[in-house]
Amino acid sequence: MLLLSASAFHDRRRIASGTLAPLADGLRAELQPVVTGALEVPHEKAMLSRRGGRCARDGTLLDFDPFDPRHRCPRCGTEFTGEEHDRFRLYWYQLWLAERTLHAAMLGALGVEPAGVSVAAALLEQYAERYLRYPNADNVLGPSRPFFSTYLESIWLLQIILATELVETAGAGALAGRVRDRVIAPSARLIASYDEGMSNRQVWNVAALLAAWSMLGDSASFEAVVHGASGVRALLSSALLPDGSWYEGENYHLFAHRGLWYAVHLTERGGISLTDDERRRFHDGFASPFRTVMPDLTYPSRRDSQFRVSVRQPRFAESCELGLARTDDVRLTAVLARLYDRAVARGETGRRGASADVERNVAATGLSRADLSWRSLLFARETLPPLAAATMRSELLPSQGFGVLRRRAGQLYASLDYGHSGGGHGHPDRLNVILANGDDRLFDDPGTGSYVDPSLHWYRSTLAHFAPLVDGCTQSSVHGALLAQQDGDIASWIAAQAELAPGLHVSRTLVLTDDYLVDELAWTGDENHELSLPFHDVVPEPGHIGDDHSGMNAENRHHRDAGFGFITDHHRHGETHGVVRLIGAHGVRGWLGASTPLSWLIAKAPGPPDAPAARPLAVASARGMAGRMVGVWSWSRIVTDVRVGETSITIERGARGTHIHSRDGQEWVTTIDGVRSSLAGVAEVRPGWMPEAGARRNDAAPATRDILLPFSAVLGESHYRRSEQSWPEAGEPRAEITIHRIRRALIRVTVAVAPSHRLFMAHDAANPLDNEQAAINGDSVQLFVRSGERSGGWLLVPERDSATVHRLPVEGWDDEIDVDSRWAPTADGYRMIVELALPPAEATVYLDILVNETAPGRARRRGQLVLSGGAGEFVYLRGDRHHPARLLRFSLLDA
Ligand SMILES: [Zn+2]
Repeated sequence: MLLLSASAFHDRRRIASGTLAPLADGLRAELQPVVTGALEVPHEKAMLSRRGGRCARDGTLLDFDPFDPRHRCPRCGTEFTGEEHDRFRLYWYQLWLAERTLHAAMLGALGVEPAGVSVAAALLEQYAERYLRYPNADNVLGPSRPFFSTYLESIWLLQIILATELVETAGAGALAGRVRDRVIAPSARLIASYDEGMSNRQVWNVAALLAAWSMLGDSASFEAVVHGASGVRALLSSALLPDGSWYEGENYHLFAHRGLWYAVHLTERGGISLTDDERRRFHDGFASPFRTVMPDLTYPSRRDSQFRVSVRQPRFAESCELGLARTDDVRLTAVLARLYDRAVARGETGRRGASADVERNVAATGLSRADLSWRSLLFARETLPPLAAATMRSELLPSQGFGVLRRRAGQLYASLDYGHSGGGHGHPDRLNVILANGDDRLFDDPGTGSYVDPSLHWYRSTLAHFAPLVDGCTQSSVHGALLAQQDGDIASWIAAQAELAPGLHVSRTLVLTDDYLVDELAWTGDENHELSLPFHDVVPEPGHIGDDHSGMNAENRHHRDAGFGFITDHHRHGETHGVVRLIGAHGVRGWLGASTPLSWLIAKAPGPPDAPAARPLAVASARGMAGRMVGVWSWSRIVTDVRVGETSITIERGARGTHIHSRDGQEWVTTIDGVRSSLAGVAEVRPGWMPEAGARRNDAAPATRDILLPFSAVLGESHYRRSEQSWPEAGEPRAEITIHRIRRALIRVTVAVAPSHRLFMAHDAANPLDNEQAAINGDSVQLFVRSGERSGGWLLVPERDSATVHRLPVEGWDDEIDVDSRWAPTADGYRMIVELALPPAEATVYLDILVNETAPGRARRRGQLVLSGGAGEFVYLRGDRHHPARLLRFSLLDA
């Protein structure tokens, strides 16, 4: 069999009626409505949109009940109707139903549910009839028929394959043949056509392909998926870092590792051995996400994580069980001891409506082995070793670049997020700090809300974190490095640094004692910079900063992109000298001093996704080529005063004496009553992070030789950036581009597109699908220009029934070049003429042109013709964005 041997499967029949009978019985009870209900496989394809599946009032994900098609908000109770909600619900429903098909087949094969195999067979018969009727079009991220993204189809297909195998073993050979021909083979070809590199999603594509090629008997394709550039071994040895953590952070770790579980088992069953290092990383991957959990047993909401996800959910207990099924690990038994603690109240586990491996988080609940899934029914140990909880200690994940200081038996938690930038799901929050005292979150990372809501830009800004900004800008994507980390009797510390601007080295040092945290930000560079630290839910004590506030003026245009657009009630305050006292969440008291005067921005900013109402924000800024900002934060009443000197920090603790902190070389020294204790643990090795996974082949340096004017080119197959259809399948769209000079600094660009259906969208149309400009999904032209100091990027949208072309600026590009444009229809398409007035003295202009094209009946564009080349690329998720390095260089001089 695909996942385990026939004899091992046979043995599970005994265990399913033995120690794991409560689990088998629970799955069987939940399956009864499927057994008796004669369910129908949906006719329509699932759709992702801005509104579908979310509460219009508070953004909460709507309830999913497989037997109740209503759309209800679990937070406010509002009920919604409409196609957007119906079609988003299909996403959950299709995954749920596929998993139920597997449950039926498996419980049948294990002798638990007598009707199981025939129920599964009836559903598989419907899938064989229906799969090819779902349109492979209008997808968000990769080709798919039932869904809108490839990885979802991969998760779905895995369920179908495993169910088909069980049904075939039970004798339904002819049906299995139909499912192979009409679902598994075409779906596998579709998945194989879309390689997602080192993304967490690729893990699922790989798992589905291994299962499919194995079932279809294609051993060459199977081996290619194991050994390929984004195959099993590549994922295990580079996306899974040496410390066993996935490079995209906890949230994606948990998702990716569930997929790796399939991939590793399928690989091993296929007779291919993994290396010791690959196996070790995989095993460490079961334990690594538990090493960083907060005192309330939620994951830190790093990067694009959902906010405050509790470990007390069935899939995390299952991950421990599946790890223990392979090898003994006290880290996992310690976690299970907490998760299976009978003193914890039981709540809803969500299993009845679970959508296969796409999680829907539920509130923390008490758990037992009966709450697990079919995977445990096949793999969990017959009996567990003794479970003993352990005190949580400080942890360092050196390749992830995340350190956690824990004190007071794990109740105090301070973390420094310094290392790997995290790729596309990473946030620009190097040197971010999270601080918690038991259940009280004092400094928190808000994670990310909805990917299709504008608030995404806030949660992905540096300003939304407790991380430093340089010159008022969101950080660029960089990796940081550890400087030191050690636990001592009186204090624990961690220090790290990152080059947040060229030549500017910023370090952050946290020193945690039982009563307070010392937080030092220091920087050195060769130019003057402004360093800012945001503090959320924090206000200055009355009278502590000047009253001469004035409304903020947008003196720095970069603020627009740095999250500042989301703050309200903002006031700039005059400079402060000396230590400023602050009050934060849960009454935490702060003292902030710096080597130079501090200026302040006091404002309101969005809260985390589960409570987005505005809350206080204080941003402290200091200027200089080098400097230091020191904060001391205390949750106890013991600290009475703080003084920040040039080389020392003095903490007055009333009758309990004074602590003096200072540095001695690379060590941190705490002096109490004249007695020095020092912390060292200086890092020797820089973490071995991986190269950015997102780099695109064509995002290379521009051509070295200038292109001369006049210029003309016909864009065709080698310029086509596709979605579902290849260039021939899309009807061979072409665009003829000509560029010539009218005068020295005036050039004319002509774009003649044919064939084209001239499906222009209104330039001011609202986009119900996502955050992008609506007009990209119709026929339109994107033009990007840079000449000298000036640049411009626009989406050019013809207006039907006139010669007008609407010019929509593209975010991140300036609008500093005069553009004059018009359009006219042609016999089988349209022609657009654009005149650009360039800065007069320039000898070169950088330019790229992208032609969006679509077809009747589509909701999203079909593809783009890209002047700088597009072969092998996909148009998904690109919106109107374009990499500046892609622009081609043209000479404005006479040939
Ligand atoms: Zn609501």
